Amino acid sequence: MARLTENFSENLWSHTAEPAPDTPQLKGALRADVTVIGGGYTGLSAALHLAKRGVDVRVLEAEQPGFGASGRNNGQVIPAYSRHNPDDIERVFGKEAGSRLNDWVAGSADLVFGLIKLYNIQCEAAQNGWLQPAHRSSRMTGIRKKQSSWEAAGQPARLLTGQETMELTGSPFYCHGGWIHERGGHIQPLGYARGLARAAVAEGAKVHGSSAALSVDRVEGRWRVRTAGGYVDSDTIVFATNGYTGALWPKLRQTVVPFRTFHAATAPISDNISQTILPENHGLSDTRQALWAFRKDLGKRLITTAAPLLPMGAREKINTTTKARLREVFPQIGDIEIDHVWEGWIAMTPERLPRLHELAGGVFAGMGYSGRGIAMATAMGKSIADRVMGAPVHDIAPLPVPMKVLPMHDVIAPLSRAMIGIYRWKDERD
Ligand SMILES: Cc1cc2nc3c(=O)[nH]c(=O)nc-3n(C[C@H](O)[C@H](O)[C@H](O)COP(=O)(O)OP(=O)(O)OC[C@H]3O[C@@H](n4cnc5c(N)ncnc54)[C@H](O)[C@@H]3O)c2cc1C
Repeated sequence: MARLTENFSENLWSHTAEPAPDTPQLKGALRADVTVIGGGYTGLSAALHLAKRGVDVRVLEAEQPGFGASGRNNGQVIPAYSRHNPDDIERVFGKEAGSRLNDWVAGSADLVFGLIKLYNIQCEAAQNGWLQPAHRSSRMTGIRKKQSSWEAAGQPARLLTGQETMELTGSPFYCHGGWIHERGGHIQPLGYARGLARAAVAEGAKVHGSSAALSVDRVEGRWRVRTAGGYVDSDTIVFATNGYTGALWPKLRQTVVPFRTFHAATAPISDNISQTILPENHGLSDTRQALWAFRKDLGKRLITTAAPLLPMGAREKINTTTKARLREVFPQIGDIEIDHVWEGWIAMTPERLPRLHELAGGVFAGMGYSGRGIAMATAMGKSIADRVMGAPVHDIAPLPVPMKVLPMHDVIAPLSRAMIGIYRWKDERD
């Protein structure tokens, strides 16, 4: 029986992740070099890369590491933009800055899997490639462009025939072809977040759970971040709150559209059927804008996106629509139960590119990964650490940009789910 709640424990990953490290609540009046607000991939990667270089860094997480999108996502590690191709990026940003951003994105999956290996993070990691099949034949034009653009940028991107795509997905539905990026893969997302927290602590960072930042003020030449239990004074602060950004810094929340997304996981699938679905254990995200994504976990469950138009009555709708979708894509699955349904907030930017901001002297923010944040948020944390350590602007990616407040944000953000209807219409139109 599917359950739907914002309660973190309804999330499948909370049942199968390695236990959380000890992250005591912040207590008292403290000093640090850097205070990081938010304990997802962005904040934990920033803390890890700073602590490694001897910086005294404290992470304040309102709940527990991985409570936000980092502990709830599909786990697909994708070293590619959701919308753009590398040649578009070079056209818009120029050859030098564009190719630096492309290299940053292309290297982001290796960064994730490298950290997992280096710190022995237990998170079901598989760097066996990421698949994007076309959901309609008309989408092959875009796929060919994407694949050839990444290949020209020196990446192991391979075009797949219809037959190869059906074999790799185990689905007759994906008969038009697709492409594979060999540097992609998948992870158990909460296990990865908890492992990053453990690694950051091992490098000397202090990570505090149940420590929501309540205010940020300038006090005696430093930034004071208050929590219910005390405060930290530091020269530098990093906002790493992404789709969970509140009102701490004026207007930061209004720079991204928080998009509520749902996920569903089946009951464990029998061995003989599981072997026919994604038989080489790939993760896939297809070409829909209202994305269909599938991957298996170690427990042989299939985890997929679910996109009800409205959250009201979502539980029942997801149960029915997910079962129907699974039978359409993987008819061999039969009548499988949906065991877990959960939700999380993604931060979208209109241009579908991540943003690094320098909000004031010593104040940084990294956000807006538009659904590609496992690899990009990890890379962003490292970029912020580099910048805090004094790397020149032109050496890092993405380039810091001024905050762009979205007009009518308070109206647009709640209506963003309605876009799902438009996306679905577009997805089926051609
Ligand atoms: C359902 C779902 C599926 C997804 N699937 C994929 C996928 O397959 N592949 C992919 O690459 N990306 C995926 N994403 C996106 C990816 O998960 C995010 O881009 C990434 O996790 C962002 O990491 P983050 O650290 O920036 O933010 P989050 O992980 O959202 O972390 C922000 C943290 O800030 C904390 N916080 C907020 N306010 C405060 C405060 N005042 N004080 C202290 N702490 C605070 C929150 O509690 C939260 O833990 C998915 C997202 C969702 C929701």
